[in-house]
Amino acid sequence: MIQKAAMMRKFMIAGNWKLHGSHAMIRQWLADFMALDTSIDALDVALCVPYVYLPMLSTNASKNILIGAQDVSAHDTGAHTGEVSAAMLQEVGARLVLIGHSERRQDHAESDELVRAKFKQALAQGLMPVVCVGESQQQRENNETFAVIERQLNAIIDLLNAANADQCILAYEPIWAIGTGLTASAEQAQEVHQFIRSQLAHKDVTMARQIRLLYGGSCKGSNAYELFSMPDVDGGLIGGASLKAEDFMAICHQANKLLDKTQSD
Ligand code: PEP
Repeated sequence: MIQKAAMMRKFMIAGNWKLHGSHAMIRQWLADFMALDTSIDALDVALCVPYVYLPMLSTNASKNILIGAQDVSAHDTGAHTGEVSAAMLQEVGARLVLIGHSERRQDHAESDELVRAKFKQALAQGLMPVVCVGESQQQRENNETFAVIERQLNAIIDLLNAANADQCILAYEPIWAIGTGLTASAEQAQEVHQFIRSQLAHKDVTMARQIRLLYGGSCKGSNAYELFSMPDVDGGLIGGASLKAEDFMAICHQANKLLDKTQSD
């Protein structure tokens, strides 16, 4: 933790609502969140929501919640029916965007090349890309975890540098842990996060130190402290547990506890 604090990487807790939400749910979520007394001032807190709810959230959420989308077009304009560009996202208040979530890679056959193109669009428009990487159960069992992560990283690594590292996020999300209740152990998460940071360091040590690496996969209030206490885990990408303000705040609370511990160490 002292190490992490010395590197000045601020914890980020980002919710991913996936295909969930409604106007009523958002009103309730925001009211519940406001009523909780955990401060989020020392954290970067974000919510990545379905496109159609971006305007409502960016108008109604308190200003210290960053609003994000769950995908972005690889194109900036033109004949691409159904797509939403980075500029459009920004116009409706998005500050960040998930790219290459495993559900998009799987359900929409998103390739590493497509992830790269989307990443470029986000960067060009000043949106903070949150690029997701992670292995399947089968790949882990076949000892392919590092090879898979390396391949996914290689799609974007040359676009990362010390000047943009604080505006880019990587999320390690083992597919076998997403929505399954099977969280990676803190040691498993740290092992991969350390691998990612060492791969980045081959390119640029300063960039590797600055960039935030989130863990995602069945993260909740009961396991967040242990996961976030790992030296290379800088917060979480939270699916199921972001749908209720109390559950999400419980995770923010654990990140705050770690900050308090660091300060008293
Ligand atoms: C996710 O989909 O990004 C995720 C981490 O989901 P969950 O927390 O539900 O496992």
